[in-house]
Amino acid sequence: MIPRPFEYHAPRSLPDAIGLLSQYGDEAKLLAGGHSLLPMMKLRFAQPGHLIDLGKVPGLKGIYDAGNEIRIGAMTTENELIWSELLQQKCPLLVEAARLISDPQVRYLGTLGGDISHGDPGNDHPAIMLALDASFVLSGPSGERIVAASEFFLGTYYTALESTEILTEIRIPTPAAGTGYCYSKLKRKTGDFATAATAVLLRMNGSLVEHVSIALTNLGPTALKAADAEAALQGEEINDQTIAQAAKLAMSVCEPVADLRGDIEYKTAMAGVMTERALRTAYSRASR
Ligand SMILES: Cc1cc2nc3c(=O)[nH]c(=O)nc-3n(C[C@H](O)[C@H](O)[C@H](O)COP(=O)(O)OP(=O)(O)OC[C@H]3O[C@@H](n4cnc5c(N)ncnc54)[C@H](O)[C@@H]3O)c2cc1C
Repeated sequence: MIPRPFEYHAPRSLPDAIGLLSQYGDEAKLLAGGHSLLPMMKLRFAQPGHLIDLGKVPGLKGIYDAGNEIRIGAMTTENELIWSELLQQKCPLLVEAARLISDPQVRYLGTLGGDISHGDPGNDHPAIMLALDASFVLSGPSGERIVAASEFFLGTYYTALESTEILTEIRIPTPAAGTGYCYSKLKRKTGDFATAATAVLLRMNGSLVEHVSIALTNLGPTALKAADAEAALQGEEINDQTIAQAAKLAMSVCEPVADLRGDIEYKTAMAGVMTERALRTAYSRASR
């Protein structure tokens, strides 16, 4: 299908991009990598009259070590995440997840900011951001505000972004050295979205869990935090029994939609399997 006609804008500064958003309001859409927006425009699910391309806005790319946190520009692509030595060393969960997104073509253009802003529960970065306790810098006409990932994903294709705001930066508290991690993703074939996936971040103190974070992809209207599963593991040993209990609790928060990837029962069961696998792998990677 062919999208409806639109006017294309390529602002050269952030204030200009925000100005265009404010000028055209609901008629405008931001364009990042285009790998979610352009298919939606071709299907006419999205019909913006004005497309504001962020590609020429300076300062929206890059991965920086800011001491106790890692800062990533919203226009940083999936491949740039994968190739980053800083992330490989200090935040390998993000690298592991980016590697599992779609195919090389999508990863060359698709951006971290676009994946988050789209609000698609099938996208992988929302759960990764919840697991990492990230926060987002949103820039608008009256300046910047910072919103925690836990407050950002409000519903399917619905986020805390106002229509005049741009997600400019992602901030991730640097995981402590020795933190175990895993993103376990079930997909039908390469290039497909998750049938079910679980992100785990796990820090041990000797044989006991000091901190655990568990988040789920494509198992509800937004990415989900498995808070009861986390609480059940806190201060406990990791063994077959505690893993099985955590997986059961993670399954209890799932509200998947039945579709070609499976019915509700199957997807919920796979959430349990992905959670078990992610916990076991994270445990094997954690220092004790
Ligand atoms: C075949 C295929 C398979 C895919 N599989 C996966 C997958 O397995 N996992 C996964 O996570 N994703 C997957 N995707 C989606 C892909 O990762 C997209 O690139 C991503 O969802 C959107 O990023 P983008 O940069 O392309 O954004 P765009 O498509 O340009 O924009 C998406 C939306 O976000 C808004 N937006 C973009 N940037 C900003 C910003 N900085 N501030 C505010 N709003 C903004 C846009 O206005 C638009 O509404 C797949 C895509 C394809 C085509």
